[in-house]
Amino acid sequence: MNKVLIYMLRFVKSRQQGRQERRRRQEERHRFFQELYAMGKCPLNYNEKLKSQNELDSSLDLWSRVDVQTCTKWGAPIMWEGTFDPGDFDRHHIQKRTSVALTVFAIGRYLEVYLKEFLKSAEQYFMVELPVTYYIFTDIPEFVPKVKLMKQRHMKVIQVKNQKRWQDISMLRMKTIADFIESHIQHWHQYIFCFDVDQVFVGRFGSEALGETVGLLHAFYYRSHVKDYTYDRNPESAAYMVTGDFYYHAAIFGGTWQGVKNITEFCHQGIMKDKEKNIEALWHDESHLNKYFWLHKPSKVLSPEYCWSTIIGFRFDIRVHRLLWATKFYDILRT
Ligand code: UDP
Ligand code: MN
Repeated sequence: MNKVLIYMLRFVKSRQQGRQERRRRQEERHRFFQELYAMGKCPLNYNEKLKSQNELDSSLDLWSRVDVQTCTKWGAPIMWEGTFDPGDFDRHHIQKRTSVALTVFAIGRYLEVYLKEFLKSAEQYFMVELPVTYYIFTDIPEFVPKVKLMKQRHMKVIQVKNQKRWQDISMLRMKTIADFIESHIQHWHQYIFCFDVDQVFVGRFGSEALGETVGLLHAFYYRSHVKDYTYDRNPESAAYMVTGDFYYHAAIFGGTWQGVKNITEFCHQGIMKDKEKNIEALWHDESHLNKYFWLHKPSKVLSPEYCWSTIIGFRFDIRVHRLLWATKFYDILRT
């Protein structure tokens, strides 16, 4: 009897392993073929420039990259290596005396695991030509690492409460940022960029990324079919979407303070509407951000060079890495 049982258990296990293996291979195949899915097309004629009031956008060389989509159907540039002259952007913003706020949240163990590398690398690569202030939101200000800052660079630490659920930590950022723009940022900075902390800068992330409202193409989906985007599919949720333009990654978004105030207020309102109904969008704040950019198109889109994951492996169209996902330790970091 025992023998029969062991045999049956082994049989079930081998079937499960087989299934897992098949699934793994299927995912691998999906990733491989993903590279063959064509991205959408920039609707301009060959060699035509963007017709934008913004002289920097209309100077972009969109046709130096025919392997990728370099502008959206509503005429916003998608920033890829090769399409812009970094010096033009830097000179423009130095002359305009542009000042940039960077917000980052490091709550609970995320502080000790990620913040130091994030800040050190930002000092090397994030808008190095411009005045930048880091606004660090944390529950344990005394543990914020001391990082040597360059001239024109500042750091301010703001204490916030921890939350029981990581989803709430992530979502509450929208409200905190909106309030902080109102109380502080609008008086000091023209632009603001909001970052996840679990990432490391490895290449120029410069003033070419500045715009009214700026979204980032998610590294895993920039060559996926729209039906595979992981939008929220629950009609009850404020983030519900049937279709869309792109799948944006919430690890980075930015814009002018007015632009980011609109984004964060919209997302927070959606999150609260869902909470009243006792529901939550599939990818939390990211689902609401995708809804915002569907209804209010971003004025600039960043290619996945601006937030790449080495898990994906080599891609011909990713010519530089500017920021990389750090290793995720969900098992120990998420409560
Ligand atoms: N975060 C934090 N502490 C937490 C959970 C999240 O500080 O316990 C912040 C941190 O900035 C993090 C962001 O919220 O980068 C989003 O969470 P996470 O990076 O885990 O989400 P993922 O990128 O894996 O979707
Ligand atoms: Mn993250």
